[in-house]
Amino acid sequence: MLKLFGKSPFLLFYIVFGYIIVFSLWWGYLLFSKNEQAFTEKMQLDRINYQSTPNPIKYEETQSYLQLLTKYKKDRIMVLSEGLFFLFLQIIGLIQVRRIFGKEIELAIQQTNFLHSITHELKSPLSSVKLALQTFQKRTLEPAQKEKLINNALSDVARLESLVENILFAAKIERNTHGFANEDVNLSDLVHSIAEKFEINKKNILIQSDIQEGIYYHIDQLGFTSVVMNLIENAIKYSEADTGILISLCSADGTIILTVKDEGSGIPDEYKKKVFEKFYRVGNEDTRKTKGTGLGLFIVGRFVEIYKGKIAVMDNIPKGSIFKITLPK
Ligand code: ADP
Repeated sequence: MLKLFGKSPFLLFYIVFGYIIVFSLWWGYLLFSKNEQAFTEKMQLDRINYQSTPNPIKYEETQSYLQLLTKYKKDRIMVLSEGLFFLFLQIIGLIQVRRIFGKEIELAIQQTNFLHSITHELKSPLSSVKLALQTFQKRTLEPAQKEKLINNALSDVARLESLVENILFAAKIERNTHGFANEDVNLSDLVHSIAEKFEINKKNILIQSDIQEGIYYHIDQLGFTSVVMNLIENAIKYSEADTGILISLCSADGTIILTVKDEGSGIPDEYKKKVFEKFYRVGNEDTRKTKGTGLGLFIVGRFVEIYKGKIAVMDNIPKGSIFKITLPK
């Protein structure tokens, strides 16, 4: 029995939900019929009293009967309205509990997924760096082989570094705005230099940029760098080889607009909001091909929010996604 509830955590909830509703309806019905019974009995007693002496009018026309009838009707309305109100409160309460319960379960699943993926993300670069170092230790290598090994190890270390940075940054962002510097940053130069870093990538994706020169903004440079890096890394990660990415930055009346367009898998409409939740990744761990932690877009969304900006995800035509960040004046 407990196993069954474990597999379907909502089953117990629905049973209790159903029980409460049926139980309330049953009590409502009982109150209703008791009220009717009380009225009939009082009325019969009153009628017998009334008819024991000769009277000019029918019992149903007497003041006493009319008073009894009015009280009966009033009680009926009271039971009905209070019952309906109580039922309404119960349904609202239960819906709320179901929502919170659902969120808790979703978060627990995402945290487990996060632990799985982070273990893999930490282990695999560490293993390959270790292997490279062991190869150096045991064998004398040709310069070309050495260079290949070093480059691979460096890219693994960069992967680890970006993972650790994302985790630290997510923790910092959750503790609120404290610690964010407000410096005058040349966003044009910054976005240029970040885009350049991705020009050579394993998937041979063509990175193009359309950046308006001389755009300055008061922002935390490290945070903004992390935002742009996350968006470009995702655009590469969720795209096929030999496609293209366009990064653009422009300013209109002091409002800054940054967009990253890719020709990748795109994000179905039902997930467009969810992808900004902490640890959220589209699909499930068994079917997902790409590795990740579900922290990247959480960081992007929260950072933009802290600077009172907006982020939107749209479909790129014919294929892919567009991430658009708007920062206010
Ligand atoms: P992850 O570490 O999984 O990449 P993110 O928070 O960066 O975590 O992204 C959350 C999810 O949003 C990803 O798992 C992926 O399903 C989806 N996603 C993010 N960026 C893109 C993109 N450019 N194209 C398609 N899907 C994306």
